[in-house]
Amino acid sequence: MMTAINKANLPPRQKYDVVIGLEVHAELNTKSKIFCSCSTSPQIDKNGNPLPNSSVCPVCMALPGALPVLNKMAVEKTITAGLCFGCQINKVTVYDRKNYFYPDLPKAYQISQMFHPICLEGSVSLSNGRVIRLNRIHSEEDAGKLLHDDINDQTLIDFNRCGVPLIEIVTEPDIKSAAEAAEFLREVRSRLTFAGISDAQMELGQMRCDVNVSLKPIGQIKLGNRVELKNLNSFKMVERSIQYEIKRQTALLDDGKKITVETRKWNDAKQITTSMRNKEAANDYRYFPDPDQYPVHLPASYIQKLKKALPKLSGDYKKDFINLGLTPYDTEILTREKKITELFLETCKMNKDYKKIANIIINSKDPLTKNQIIEKLNFKPTNTDRARLTDIIQKIFAAGYENNKPIDKLINYFMGKVMQATKGEADPELTKEIIKSFLTEK
Ligand SMILES: [Zn+2]
Repeated sequence: MMTAINKANLPPRQKYDVVIGLEVHAELNTKSKIFCSCSTSPQIDKNGNPLPNSSVCPVCMALPGALPVLNKMAVEKTITAGLCFGCQINKVTVYDRKNYFYPDLPKAYQISQMFHPICLEGSVSLSNGRVIRLNRIHSEEDAGKLLHDDINDQTLIDFNRCGVPLIEIVTEPDIKSAAEAAEFLREVRSRLTFAGISDAQMELGQMRCDVNVSLKPIGQIKLGNRVELKNLNSFKMVERSIQYEIKRQTALLDDGKKITVETRKWNDAKQITTSMRNKEAANDYRYFPDPDQYPVHLPASYIQKLKKALPKLSGDYKKDFINLGLTPYDTEILTREKKITELFLETCKMNKDYKKIANIIINSKDPLTKNQIIEKLNFKPTNTDRARLTDIIQKIFAAGYENNKPIDKLINYFMGKVMQATKGEADPELTKEIIKSFLTEK
């Protein structure tokens, strides 16, 4: 039987393919800057605020004659980043000058990598099964910060951030929606934090993301004109700006208009993007190898050593948690933040009701308040292993004690020692019983 279809109830047919590529910058958590010995943490004033221009030197201020010396840890952490994404690590890597003028860049060039980056290729698999390929991960220095003082109508410059090591993760234009972009970024953040190479907090500017968005008629091979989105300080902003931009470009194309190649700024208050400037082509930067830097050789044995030292990443924990019987949703939330994963693992040592622990942590407003979680779980001491407790108590007795005290006091004394040794896990009744038997034996 045929059923009449009311076309008005159908979603609009998608006319355009969405093509998105990301450029993600993440600050590496080295102690010193990438080309000088200045600390990456500026000095703090008496109110706890960072003092502007308190962590600067002739190198990062670009005074004449100052020469940059590469920080080995910045290279090492970039290689580690590459290993987290399955990248190839180049045997020889070279730093280049990216030339442009801006007041926050005192050399008028940024030391970056164009032709021989440290890492090539690599990928991230999304939950829908699609694979986002990486083009590269390269190493570079950060610029300073401009502070606009609207009251006195002036702009101030703080060079503390100048020379802080960054990695730039560049994807191929494989992302197809705002949701995929957000998932990709969460995965990047997770891998960098689990590897311990970046704190990667977008809200603090430790991870920044530029988004390239273009549309093309479905099935067309040639890519459409792309727009770069900037000023995105959270995963939410990335998602919303892409959604807005897809709508804006769709409307223009529907009207038969052309998309201008440009950089647009996200205005979070108004939830729109506005034009910033026409996009520079790569050759405008006149990239060339930095004559102040030697090419860096990265022997296979060195890469192998770093590979061996790679800690467990979120993906490894996800597999573990699935094996514990948790759902993919639970494992996703529990592995977004390293601290949450650690808390879950720590709590599981005290109680084996993994699903209950997962639910409490996931539904907790502040999941890092550990005591409240333990309270909610209403933990019973799990250390009821008589042989293990006897062994612990025997060792404590062997260390010696003053036996001229009343038995009650002695019991309390040993109870304290046992709780200390078992981090409070020992079953109190059983512990007391074993202690008593030791004391009466003597
Ligand atoms: Zn410096």
